[in-house]
Order: sequence, then structure tokens, then C-alpha cells
Amino acid sequence: MSRLNREWHEANPMPKNPTPEQRMGWHAGHAAHCACRAMPAGVVRLFTERGVPLPAQQGDSAPADPKG
Ligand SMILES: [Zn+2]
Repeated sequence: MSRLNREWHEANPMPKNPTPEQRMGWHAGHAAHCACRAMPAGVVRLFTERGVPLPAQQGDSAPADPKG
């Protein structure tokens, strides 16, 4: 059973030389639609540096939702 969302990947190729904003946008969409791989630490840092909440990762069993 694959967790790769092939259709999403085909529709959303990563740009060749992505800006940090493009990487964040791509990975936010990726996390929402595909669980083939976790968000790289370098991208996680882009979010945290900007104070942007990390997007939820598909397929993650989130331990606890703080909003309850
Ligand atoms: Zn993927």
C-alpha cells in the first residue's frame, strides 16, 4: 500500500530553483495531500523562523489536538 499521491505529484512538480516561499508552499500542499515522505528539517525551519504553524502531515496520527 503506497502513501505516494502520484496524481498530486504529477500536478505539483517542485520548481527547479525554488524560493523559500515556494518550498513552503509546495511542502504545505504536499503534507496535506501526500504522505510519501516527511517534511525535511530545513523546510520545517523555514516555517518556524517565520512563526508560521507547521501544516499537518497526511497519515500522521497526531498525538493530541490542542484545540481539543
Ligand atoms: Zn509525496
